[in-house]
Amino acid sequence: MPDSLITGYLEIVRATTGAEEVVFWRGNPEFEELVPEWWSTAHGGEPEHFVEQTWRALVQWAVQENRPQTVGTEAVQLVAAPVGGDGGAIGALSISSEGGLRAGREALRASITRYAAHVGALYELIRTRGQYHRATQQSSALLTAAQRFSINRSIEALGDSITTAALEMTAGYGAALAHWNHENETGEVAYSSPDARARPGLRLDFGGQVARACSADIPLVMEDARRLDAKVVLFGEGEKAGGLGSLAIVPLRGDAGVIGAIVIEGRAPGDIRQEDARNLRLLALLAGAALQTVWEIEEITRRSRTDPLTGLYNRGHFEDRLRQMLAETGRFGGESSLVMFDIDHFKAVNDTHGHPAGDAVLKAIARLLEARVRNVDTCARYGGEELALLLPRTELDGAMELANRLRLAVMDSPVPWGGGSLAVTVSGGVASFPHCARSPETLIAAADAALYRAKEGGRNKVEAAALLTYPVMV
Ligand code: GH3
Ligand code: MG
Ligand code: MG
Repeated sequence: MPDSLITGYLEIVRATTGAEEVVFWRGNPEFEELVPEWWSTAHGGEPEHFVEQTWRALVQWAVQENRPQTVGTEAVQLVAAPVGGDGGAIGALSISSEGGLRAGREALRASITRYAAHVGALYELIRTRGQYHRATQQSSALLTAAQRFSINRSIEALGDSITTAALEMTAGYGAALAHWNHENETGEVAYSSPDARARPGLRLDFGGQVARACSADIPLVMEDARRLDAKVVLFGEGEKAGGLGSLAIVPLRGDAGVIGAIVIEGRAPGDIRQEDARNLRLLALLAGAALQTVWEIEEITRRSRTDPLTGLYNRGHFEDRLRQMLAETGRFGGESSLVMFDIDHFKAVNDTHGHPAGDAVLKAIARLLEARVRNVDTCARYGGEELALLLPRTELDGAMELANRLRLAVMDSPVPWGGGSLAVTVSGGVASFPHCARSPETLIAAADAALYRAKEGGRNKVEAAALLTYPVMV
């Protein structure tokens, strides 16, 4: 990164000393090596002496010993001195000429110390200017974010505002939001920017970097993340592998503990810096408060829709979804189906093995149904031991086939209980819209009537509802 202020000064040093190459080497504290960063050479190209000669080690030595070093038996060919900044050594200055420098050894040692001090001051000036730019940019990103947070009501909108701010405040390429449950120490990715390595829904690995930062409530900022082992997991299994240059994980706090983290990925070392940490924590503070509210509302909504025993949707949500499904089918055409299951002789399970055994059976059947239907289908607990399925874009024959497959699966999957197992069966009634009924209420009644026939017919069977006798326009 050539900067005319420093390069210009190196030109002057070269002219004054009659050198062929004057180089400012910047130290990389995490890598313990010096890299030529700015230079002035007689030939106008990159410095060559340190490739052709064995002088590189001497420049390093000057920094380690913290005093000027020289090479050359008669005339001095190389003089190198440490360059100090505000917070200690930042690099080295070297002045070299294969044919020998004009001035004597002592004079060169004295003058290079002055030149090095000047270069150090210029470097600090440039750095301060850079920090100032970054600080201006960061505070405006923070301000925008704070304004957006107060109007964002969904996790998508909030996730977008938070990751956008995080990327504006650093030179990172991807950012993600993790959701953390501090009670059982689990979490998953809740939102991610397009280039981030993890997608929403990915479960956090307990040993991964993100889970660890959340669990310990300690922010992590790695300016140089190239050292991280290639096998190190950031989020969890199945995340896209790829070299990270820099990394930040900043935990988000709620009232009672850590509720998540902002994760920022940088392509190159230094894309995310230690000096960004303070403002990132400020972002996390604002984001944490906003996220807690949104996540709490999401949780309340989820609870109001689900049945606590089975985790299936409850009757209220089932009825909403049924109305929605019939409205969509009515508008776009085609057929949709409803399946009602009722566990056979369920009272006997309770009477013989106790209520907890009955609960275990209900839960097991709920899991079994959920695992065997499509994503677009809805599984609900309609009543005590009556479970309902909503199957959009499914004809009566297809629904019958699925219902029978599920019935057989229940029959073949005894539920482990008290060292033994409980074998149960289910009966089912299937009705489709619009061929068996034209409204939500009559569709439920039709499926119920079919279910009643299945019970009458000996149980462990599935019956279809009768078709309406008048023609239906589809
Ligand atoms: P059928 O084959 O005719 O359906 O017989 P059944 O015994 O299953 O029918 P019935 O409707 O008489 O019994 C339903 C039983 O389901 C009665 C009730 O105690 C039980 N039940 C309802 N909800 C729950 C629950 O949440 N947990 C448990 N363990 N039992 C429940
Ligand atoms: Mg019943
Ligand atoms: Mg029953």
